[in-house]
Amino acid sequence: MTKHTIVVYQAYKNSGNLRFHKKGTKKSWKHYFIEIDDYDEDEYTFGSEWISSIKAMILKRKQVYKKRFVCPECLKIWEAYVPKNTKEIECPNCD
Ligand SMILES: [Zn+2]
Repeated sequence: MTKHTIVVYQAYKNSGNLRFHKKGTKKSWKHYFIEIDDYDEDEYTFGSEWISSIKAMILKRKQVYKKRFVCPECLKIWEAYVPKNTKEIECPNCD
């Protein structure tokens, strides 16, 4: 399984409701990710975990984004999680 970061953000650890957190509670970093099966890329699960601020900085740089692609060959439209500056990926249909 390979983890792909979707979002890294700060949240209060001790409360599910952000408006009523305990006084003096520090914010912590939360990491949301998808885990993609190395053998079957259609198999993936979502997950989250608390992380250190150092790890948050590292993960932010590797964050992936859900993007829509259109193939100029077959005009198929599909979505994939890719790093920020990805313009094109191989078409799963023409491959
Ligand atoms: Zn195509």
